[in-house]
Amino acid sequence: MVLGAATDDSDYEDSTWEEELAGPAGDMADKEDAEPVTGRPRSQRVNSLFSEDELIEDYYNAPPANGGSVWSDNSPSPRPPAPTFSSSSPGTLSDSMEGTATAQLSPTIKAGWLDKNPPQGSYIYQRRWVKLDADYLRYFDGEKDPYSKRFIPVSSISRITSIGDQKFEVITNNRNFVFRAESDVDRNEWIRTLQQIVEERKSKALERTSISLTINGATDLVDKSGFLELRGFKHKLFVVVAGDKVFLYKNAEDYRLGIGITYIEMNLGNVKEVDRRGFDLTTPYRIFSFSADSDQEKEEWVEAMQQSISEALSNSEVAERIWLVESNRFCADCGSPKPDWASINLCVVICKRCAGEHRGLGPGITKVRSLKMDRKVWTEELIELFHQIGNAVANQFWAANVPPSEAITPTSSSQERRHFLIAKYREGKYRRYHPLFGNQEELNRALCAAVTTSDLAETQALLFCGAAVNCATGDPQCPTPLALAEKSGQRLQMEFLLHNKTSEMPRLEVGGSEEKPYSVPLPSVTHNGFLYKTPSMAKPVSERKGQEEFSRRWCTLQDGILSYYENDRNAVPNGEIKVEEIVCLVNNSPHTHGIESTFEVYIETERLYLFGLESPDSAREWLKSIAKSFVHPRAEELLALDFERIGRLHYKGGLNLERAKEGWFALAGSVLHVCFEDSERQEPLQLRKLQELSIQGDNEVLVLVERRRTLYIQGERKLDFLGWVHAIQKAAGSSGDTLSEQQLTESDVPLLVDRCIDYITQCGLTSEGIYRKSGQNSKTTSLLEMLRRDARSVRLKEGEHQVDDVANTLKRFFRDLGDGLFTRQWGQDWLRATALEDEEAKISEYRRLLGTLPTVNRATLKALINHLFRVQRFSAENQMNTHNLAIVFGPTLFQTDGKDYKAGRVVEDLISHYVKIFNVNDQEMKKQQDEIMAIMKMREAASSGTQQAGDFICTVYLEEKKTEAEQHVKIPATMTAEELTFEILDRRKIVMKEKDYWSCFEVNEREEAERPLHYSEKVLPILHCLGTESYLVVKKQMSMENMLIYLASRVGDCKHGMMKFREERNLLGLGLSTGFHDRYFILNSTCLRLYKEVRSHKPEKEWPVRNLKVYLGIKKKLRPPTCWGFTVFYENEKHEKQQWYLCCDTQADLREWFATFLHVQNGGALWPSETSKVRASRSQQDSRLGNISLIPLRGNESEMRSSVAAFATDPLTLLRNV
Ligand SMILES: [Zn+2]
Repeated sequence: MVLGAATDDSDYEDSTWEEELAGPAGDMADKEDAEPVTGRPRSQRVNSLFSEDELIEDYYNAPPANGGSVWSDNSPSPRPPAPTFSSSSPGTLSDSMEGTATAQLSPTIKAGWLDKNPPQGSYIYQRRWVKLDADYLRYFDGEKDPYSKRFIPVSSISRITSIGDQKFEVITNNRNFVFRAESDVDRNEWIRTLQQIVEERKSKALERTSISLTINGATDLVDKSGFLELRGFKHKLFVVVAGDKVFLYKNAEDYRLGIGITYIEMNLGNVKEVDRRGFDLTTPYRIFSFSADSDQEKEEWVEAMQQSISEALSNSEVAERIWLVESNRFCADCGSPKPDWASINLCVVICKRCAGEHRGLGPGITKVRSLKMDRKVWTEELIELFHQIGNAVANQFWAANVPPSEAITPTSSSQERRHFLIAKYREGKYRRYHPLFGNQEELNRALCAAVTTSDLAETQALLFCGAAVNCATGDPQCPTPLALAEKSGQRLQMEFLLHNKTSEMPRLEVGGSEEKPYSVPLPSVTHNGFLYKTPSMAKPVSERKGQEEFSRRWCTLQDGILSYYENDRNAVPNGEIKVEEIVCLVNNSPHTHGIESTFEVYIETERLYLFGLESPDSAREWLKSIAKSFVHPRAEELLALDFERIGRLHYKGGLNLERAKEGWFALAGSVLHVCFEDSERQEPLQLRKLQELSIQGDNEVLVLVERRRTLYIQGERKLDFLGWVHAIQKAAGSSGDTLSEQQLTESDVPLLVDRCIDYITQCGLTSEGIYRKSGQNSKTTSLLEMLRRDARSVRLKEGEHQVDDVANTLKRFFRDLGDGLFTRQWGQDWLRATALEDEEAKISEYRRLLGTLPTVNRATLKALINHLFRVQRFSAENQMNTHNLAIVFGPTLFQTDGKDYKAGRVVEDLISHYVKIFNVNDQEMKKQQDEIMAIMKMREAASSGTQQAGDFICTVYLEEKKTEAEQHVKIPATMTAEELTFEILDRRKIVMKEKDYWSCFEVNEREEAERPLHYSEKVLPILHCLGTESYLVVKKQMSMENMLIYLASRVGDCKHGMMKFREERNLLGLGLSTGFHDRYFILNSTCLRLYKEVRSHKPEKEWPVRNLKVYLGIKKKLRPPTCWGFTVFYENEKHEKQQWYLCCDTQADLREWFATFLHVQNGGALWPSETSKVRASRSQQDSRLGNISLIPLRGNESEMRSSVAAFATDPLTLLRNV
């Protein structure tokens, strides 16, 4: 329904009653709809559309002679005395605003057609669609009208009475509304329902007298109000912008009564300036053309409405979901309606004013976040936690004993609030004490028990009655309550514990604490004492400073300033550092300088201060105090770490690489902990597991590549950045000679071991005397040194490295390993196990011992024995059977001199019983065997020269992934998906019939998605990119027929429409996505564009089509709203990746989008017109290309990429280089 021209141009004042009846659909102000309360007889019938205006006028004084409606504000007629509003008057604004705020949440309770009483003087009843929800009785022209003609707050209804003839009357303080139902039954049903809702409302209002705000208090909720002209309306309307809605009232009086015409949900709105004073509010249903009194006014209105739109778009999801629980709809502390803030550790929803005071309590007591603005904080778990705990459960504990004299209301002053909140949360004065209160051990024990159950209330009570959140559980597997909760699968307990990791226990403080200034954004830390100090520097401290270079200074940390004085009697400091200027704090390792403990303070202006202390304990106190004083409260989690370096840095990462953000970083051991912007949690980055660590530019950007994520840390300032770079590089390398100190793979095997095993597997399985023959000593030494220094950067290449050198390197690594592979503690037990005569008993003893090894040792042992198991399979060629291998590896792994035969026995047993001891399943075995077979075939081929060395053998499935359907296919560099498909079909003697669209699919098991390869796509590059969770399968493409029909029938080659969009958590694994959202998409031949909505002018996002990979399907874990979805991968030229999801409403829609994607990406053809040609030419092509060197299977990613890319584009260019 869009406002028609007729409506726009109508002269309402002159329109006759009859005309109006049949009038345009666009009018919203209803004919008069209420009987005057006074019952004073109506003097005259009014023929204006706005007869009700007349009515109001009528109510207060006689209608003007012309019968017109004069209800503008500047009416000369005497105004009635302003109605008085007691604070508990049900019709007050506050109630109406509260009601509207939750209107969206309120489902319709009853709806139906009713006749509304005729306007004054008429006898014709008006048929209206009447809707009742918990907040409003509204009526509409029609069933589908989005905008009512009237809304009457339920809270303003005082009575409903039956008045005969199927009629009933809805009575409010000021107006009565008469409706007529079609039958007595219907009428009685309406009366009953209305009465019930009104009763419920009243009892609720009694429970919370606090809702009734004064008018002043409530105006907080209104962003802008005043008179505006609305096209189609003779008189100005009173318009109110409040939160995410715009309300239309006939006049200010109606506004105060709460009875309005309609309200507009701004999540669908769009505001556009039209001329000097005019602007349009556009919704999908109607255009509201407003005109303000001045251009200044207009700008204010436009701004207010635009803000309302952004609020509507931002708040809807989280706030509404939190408010689903009744108790969360009112501030936990003062009872204000519509609270849109929360304390995420206390799990209470609070109003803005209380939130301000909460903040003053400090993050140790309460962590304040907005439901609307801090969206990223709101994970599924946290929202669920607010459903489970929320205001109801929280207050049962925190507000169990509040004396009425101390309770606060929405009108309380900020001082009253502060007093109350300090008593409630800081002192815990009104708590319901846990029976175990005061008994620390019992509390802790009870906490460990509670977190394994779903009883969150118990955990809350224990935690805030003194149980230690990090208490020792006595269970080495799960040392903390958090680990216990995790083991028990109690996600919400985990969430609750996490948010309270740094919470302070409530305690009664001695005197005067309430008068502290709470407005400081950073916790005010006070610390003082003597420190040794050197003059500040502009360069990194590269040399050891002797004790004589330090001077003793009296230092104080107070009110955000670190000052140093000549001595403790001086009043004037020698100098000072503002904590807000501190960017980094470094804890040097002991004895770095001539004073035992030293630390460095870096400030924004590229200077550093070196301080020292003889006592490590005092130094630690200083470090903690300084860190606490400058680290942003949102990064407070970092303070609990035993960091060697902490500070803020600029970074880029995730989906938005345009803007650098500020994050807080702490380095502890080999883990870099990061608090990203907008993120609540700190994220640990395992530096030893990085795939890449490099510096770009002239020491400008540090690039950290983890599996599936890339983080760019920027050198905003040189001094502290260089320090970070060195520290991170050091932490990312091996730190010692034990296993766990090495750089590791994802599966916890030292990278060094992985590299060597890989190389031997590729090149040395058949090498005679492998592991027995010694390599060149000098080469082994230097290789081991290189690998130990940074295995990440070492690539072992055939030709460059000799098999025996590598084998020897691996052996030497194990022989020199600190603590040994079997550990000193358990080594003897392993050796003793060989004495067990019963085979089964021995195996189970090995298995038990395996379980006692540290994770890294266990993973490494398995990788090594697996490797040796493979090696002995080739003993016919390499002469190394299990026994021979055991002789070599026994003394190496047990680091014995070779005289203890038991060491060899252990290794021999481990290899012989590899499958049993390591619990290897058939599938795993099969896969390994296949891999070996493929490698062997390849090598055989290479050495005999009968086959192309460039061929790569891979497993392809027919129709589905199962062993019987496996085919091992040699993939030449030139092979296309179509050729591969034929190859498989040929082998299985399957004849391709017409309209059997056999294709090759790439299936990604992890994403539960698949992608049909385009027939012309080269397979080899795809194989190289396949992860371990992916495989190729040849099967029929069921939707091809339909896609072809669709493409043939459509006009133009783009597609647009709505789809549901969801972003993957960003690349750093942070910022949980909040689900699927409707977005508008346009796909043309070059780009896919995303718009917030249909009418948006600027795309919110835009991706070049060539950089997209579109998969059918979405993993179930993400709970896609329909079963027709895509998973889309995006990768730009810099190899930065994104991943997101799209969902269509129907299968046809999905097919059309997918067809369009394929069409655009492949320049038209989806299916080859003449398949036979391709088949015929294949053999010819092969011979033409001849021998192509093996694509390096190892090598860094970009090397692989460029060589694969070269293949994919033009195989001939590569040939020229051969
Ligand atoms: Zn409040």
